[in-house]
Formats: sequence, C-alpha cells, structure tokens
Amino acid sequence: MYVVQIASECAPVIKAGGLGDVVYGLSRELEIQGHCVELILPMYDCMRYDHIWGLHDAYRDLWVPWYDGAIHCSVFCGWVHGRLCFFIQPHSSDNFFNRGLYYGALDDTIRFAFFSKAALEFLQQSNKRPDIIHCHDWQTGLVPVMLFEMYKYHGLWNQRVCYTIHNFKHQGVCGADILHATGLNNDAYYYTWDRLQDNHHPGAINLMKGGIVYSNYINTVSPHHAWEARFSEVGCGLNPTLEVHHHKFGGILNGIDYEVWNPEKDQYVPHHFSIDNFEEKAKNKKALREQLMLQDDPDKPLICFIGRLDGQKGVHLVHHALYYALHKRAQFVLLGSATESGINSWFWHEKTFLNSNPDCHLELGFNEELAHLIYAGADMIVVPSNYEPCGLTQMIGLRYGTVPIVRGVGGLLNTVFDWDYDEHHSPETRNGFVFYQTDSTALESAMERALDLWTKSPKHFQQLAIQGMEYDNSWNIPGSKYVGVYEHIRHRS
Ligand code: ADP
Repeated sequence: MYVVQIASECAPVIKAGGLGDVVYGLSRELEIQGHCVELILPMYDCMRYDHIWGLHDAYRDLWVPWYDGAIHCSVFCGWVHGRLCFFIQPHSSDNFFNRGLYYGALDDTIRFAFFSKAALEFLQQSNKRPDIIHCHDWQTGLVPVMLFEMYKYHGLWNQRVCYTIHNFKHQGVCGADILHATGLNNDAYYYTWDRLQDNHHPGAINLMKGGIVYSNYINTVSPHHAWEARFSEVGCGLNPTLEVHHHKFGGILNGIDYEVWNPEKDQYVPHHFSIDNFEEKAKNKKALREQLMLQDDPDKPLICFIGRLDGQKGVHLVHHALYYALHKRAQFVLLGSATESGINSWFWHEKTFLNSNPDCHLELGFNEELAHLIYAGADMIVVPSNYEPCGLTQMIGLRYGTVPIVRGVGGLLNTVFDWDYDEHHSPETRNGFVFYQTDSTALESAMERALDLWTKSPKHFQQLAIQGMEYDNSWNIPGSKYVGVYEHIRHRS
C-alpha cells in the first residue's frame, strides 16, 4: 500500500511530544512491513535540520489557493533517518512556520488550516495518489473535510483517510474565517451539528470534529482511552460525535521505536545493558548522578519524571512525588518543560529552592539526550497523569528496566500491571505499580509500595524490572493493526 502521513510533527526532526514519536515510529514500521510511506510536514524554521539528510527542493511552484488569492510555496524533500519527508514552505508575509515555535501562536488554527490545504494541493498537483492518507490531531482535521468536499472532484477521488487523535483536549476551535480561507465557502452547510459546528459553541467550528465526521476511520491511541473518550469527560465534548460515528472508531495502542529506544545500543547511554546483563544498568545510575551532581549513595533509589509539566500530566502530583521521594530518603530527577507561565515559574522557583540538595535535580527544558540517560539510570519512573491517551514514558521506562508508578488512566492502564494487585495478570507478568485516585495519598501509597520493594526486597524489585523489559511494546503489533485498518477502509466505498 502507498500511505501518506500528513502531520505537524515527526521525531526527531520536529518533536514537541509523543505525536512526533508516533508519526516516525509508525512510518518506519509500515515500511518494514512492506508498504511505501511518505510524510508531508510543515517546514518550520526551528526544526532540527541536522536530522535531515539530502534536503533539496522537490517542487518549486506550489500555488495554494487562500482566501481570494493564492500563496506561493516551495516543497523541500529529504530523508529523516530513512523516512522520505516533504516539507512545505510558504512564501508569504504571514510567516506561518517561521515563528521559532511549533505551536502556541495566536493564529495556530489558520497556520495549520493552511498546512492542511497545502498538503492536499501538493498531492493533487504532483500527481501523488496514495491509497491511504493518515492524519493526526486537530492540526490536520481539515484534510478529510477538504478531501471529500473539494479535492475528490479534482483527481483525489480514490483516497481513504485514517485519522488518529492523540489528545482530545486540543480540538482547533475557531471561527468561520477558516472556511473562507480554505475555500469551504458555504457557512450554513458546515455550521451544522453533524458537520463542523462545535458541540458547545454554536458560533464556532471544530477542526477535530471535522476530522471525526469525514474520515473513513478514526482512532485514539489506546483501547482504554477510546472507551474514556466516548463515555467520560476526557472526550472533551466530542462524546456525542464519537457516539454517532462509533462504528468507525477504535483504540490502537502506540508502540515505541525499538531502534531509538534500545538499552543495548542507545548512543546516549554509556553502559549498554539487557535482561542478560541487567547489572550494567547500575553504572548508568552512577553516570547520571555524576552528570547531575547528585550524591552517589548506594542505599538510595532514584525516581524520575520525564514529560510536559501541565495539567494533563498531573503536575501537582509530580510536585508531590518529588517531595515525597525526598521525605522517604530517595532521589528524584525531573526533566520537563512547561508552556504555561504560572507552572513554569512555579518549577523554576522549586529548582532554585532545591538547587543545593544533593538528592534531586530539576532540568527545565527539552533535552532528548538527557532523557535517554535518565530512562537508563533511574530505578522508577512516576507518571501520575490526570488523563493519558497512551503515554510513551512508561513504555520507554519498561524498555529500560525502570519500573513505572502510574495512575490507572488511558493507555497507562493498558500497559502497566500492578505488582501487588493486578487481577488479570499472573505475578510473573506484572510490571509496575498503579494507583487510581487523584489525591496525594493514593500516589504516596503506590510510591511507598515501590520504595519498600526496592529497599526490602531488591531481588524481587529486579525481577519486576526485568519482567517489564520482557514486554513487547514495539511497533510490530500496532503497525499490523493499522495495516488492518487501512485494508479495511481501502476496500469500502
Ligand atoms: P505527550 O502527552 O507529551 O505526547 P507522551 O508520554 O506520549 O507525552 O510522549 C512524551 C515523549 O516526549 C517521550 O518520548 C518523552 O521522552 C519525550 N519528552 C517529554 N518531555 C521531554 C523533555 N523535557 N525532554 C526530552 N524529552 C521529553
């Protein structure tokens, strides 16, 4: 099959979070399974150009209709660790992708509506006719809308769309302007409950809703989150829309890229290890402590958190975990970045306050290299999310023998099975600690069980870590599931 992914991220060249990992990892797996994959991405000024090989201009004169005129674009092409990527660069005073950021501009909905339109124009004008167009999140929600309302009549009549929702929180809610800009020129037609009208704000349109209504298949990134999205508040108002379209909605668990996340040959990890020489992991703990100037006390376990510092990630519980770890004479390393200024200054304040503490380190920012060393060196990783569509950090932790302590929501529930209490997994297939409530007592009790096992029963703790490493969270199985979806929608009219 010929698959084109249209996305706002692809790791490592454009990575703000898990979406980038998923787009890259899935593309690679699809190729391994014998399919042809190409990616269409925005050409941001701030992306990691050092990860692109052979960048050259592939299509010089892409004119993208926009309002009553057109914007001239160039399309560049290059390989990102083997994946063929096309980068769209508009030449206009709007400067859509020259902002020094991926997201967070006031006109984000316009920026990505333009990208969606440009991606379809590129397919049409360059005569690319993929079997499957795979879009991701609100940024590309308009792709199926425009495909089936416009481009279908201009050559793209045989394409099918799979739409993956990585986070229901951000839906791209905006005004009618987007319709006029993209040429979807019939407000009354799109402003209806069964098309693009936002379920809560009747005066607004919702790009993610458009993706749901128009795509041939929609999924979110774990089976449990698919259930939550339909039946709980994490559907963020889209529940009734998902209900209407439930026959084409499912949950496919993400994988992690086993080439990138491989403790046996990770380039950022000084001491490689596997289940067979697990004792080497301890040397990485030492290396991590050295790098972060933490005291090297053999009696102290090291707990980490890696991720965005925001409400979704349970930032209050992250904060509590840090102080609880210190209270229990453990060490804590936090690597995270906050986009909200209040949270940012809160954690900068903590960092300054704890600066001279030899048992903890707060690294505020995005640091891919350090993340690898932390996964390899920590004993436990805490993931106390409020909601978590899939979550990659617990799966990476498992791969590196770093025992996850998670809140039982979304994909965390599909991947972490409690050492003491899991009813569905035999003791030799359990791999972490799970708590359910959002209060600090629940977190403490799970952390206490983990710390107790580490301190009082190191052999069992090691066994638990190794059991986690035995899990297959690669893209192999999810990749096959996506292929199954593609096959299914390809053969339906
Ligand atoms: P998200 O909700 O942000 O997508 P995921 O758990 O799905 O969360 O994916 C997070 C990915 O981003 C993981 O690969 C994690 O290692 C990485 N990551 C998150 N924050 C940072 C950071 N500050 N520095 C380096 N990597 C990070």
